[in-house]
Amino acid sequence: MQDEANVSEGSNVTGTDEAYSHTSPGTAAGTGTHRPEDGVEDLCARLIRFDTTNRGPGDSVGEREAAEYVAGVLTDAGLSPTLLESAPRRANVVVRIPGTDPAAEAVLVHAHLDVVPADPSEWSVPPFAGEIRDGLVWGRGAVDMKDMCAMVLAVLRSWSAAGLRPRRDIVVAFVADEEAHGDYGASWLVDEHPDLFAGCAIGISESGGHSFDVDGVRLYPVAAAERGTIHLRLTARGRAGHGSRPNPDNAVVHLAHALARIAAYEWPVRLTPTVRAYLERTGAALGVDVDLTDVDATIGRLGKAGALATATVRATATPTMLDAGYKINVIPGTAHANLDGRALPGTEQEFLDTIDELLGPHVERETLDYTEAVSAPIDSPWFEAMAAALRTQDPDAVVVPYCMGGGTDAKSFARLGIAGYGFSPLRLPVDFPFRGLAHGVDERVPADGLRFGARVLDHFLRTV
Ligand SMILES: [Zn+2]
Repeated sequence: MQDEANVSEGSNVTGTDEAYSHTSPGTAAGTGTHRPEDGVEDLCARLIRFDTTNRGPGDSVGEREAAEYVAGVLTDAGLSPTLLESAPRRANVVVRIPGTDPAAEAVLVHAHLDVVPADPSEWSVPPFAGEIRDGLVWGRGAVDMKDMCAMVLAVLRSWSAAGLRPRRDIVVAFVADEEAHGDYGASWLVDEHPDLFAGCAIGISESGGHSFDVDGVRLYPVAAAERGTIHLRLTARGRAGHGSRPNPDNAVVHLAHALARIAAYEWPVRLTPTVRAYLERTGAALGVDVDLTDVDATIGRLGKAGALATATVRATATPTMLDAGYKINVIPGTAHANLDGRALPGTEQEFLDTIDELLGPHVERETLDYTEAVSAPIDSPWFEAMAAALRTQDPDAVVVPYCMGGGTDAKSFARLGIAGYGFSPLRLPVDFPFRGLAHGVDERVPADGLRFGARVLDHFLRTV
């Protein structure tokens, strides 16, 4: 993803897309369901059974089959989805549900169909069996994010069955490739088909809106910002030579020193409005004293709730790959490392200046990926509408904004001016290990939670 892209207005949808008219077996079409939550757990289980593993750049399976299934469900609900392939088998599905008020700005829902790999030997159930057991839907993607795919499908199906229309246009995008870089999914759609998202003011997607119980208080953190991604390739240069005759200009040593300086560096606290609001509002809900002049102590006092802010009060720079040398008795002329940097909104240049200082004179950097941080308004009617929708199903919900440490497809849609929120509502049991399950072993989601989420989404998308 790039930080900015010029998007041409009004380009036509052409090329690999096609109007979709296939009817998939196994959909619940014709069953006359009217409630938004009806059949949502079956939809989630069915989607999990499509192995849509994304192993990284260009290496994935199953997205086309999952997209065809989704398009079939939408078609059976009387909608007209468009299936768009960015490359062979890399499929996306986009559908627009026209609202009753053509003057109202549209809302985008985006949900990715791909998942990260799962090693069956580590799991207690086959990760792509889509089992429903003990009130839980099991499998890779259960919380990241076939849950959201299923909830929005169930909602749209119920609208069709009941003859309901939302006030605003609702655009729903089921996308490929979020787990790599979005080059075949959201980023490609934004570059090649921006017209599909015309009029969208906000987007909702993963990583927020689920319940998080802390000391008897039910928080629902909604993501309203994401740190930026700055991936760097570091190259140290020195004098090559014989390993038995050390010289002071050794590239391996230069690189090791630079990485040690980066690891030891204490990044300064940089409080953004979203993180500040998270600390203040969560502290108020929990009755914890919030002192913004000592953020680390405040985070400590917030306990479990504080952990959600730890990675977002300052930048981080994590060395993740090392590469140097080719023979034990040869000093190489160069040494390399990759650095995973994350910076808060508005602090990207400060981050790079600091890295340059820490690298010192013998190490250069090259940018592999630079994606600016994004943030969406927290004191807005949009945010309040999400909070209100949650409260219709949980009157005790304490809805707070937070900042994501990593990133999602929201960064791609931000290039179209679409403000992104992590709002994928679920009500979870106390101590449900939600955060450990995304990309983890034995990923699962409570069916009750899905039904709750479908009702919340229905309310939000129809009334916002
Ligand atoms: Zn995800």
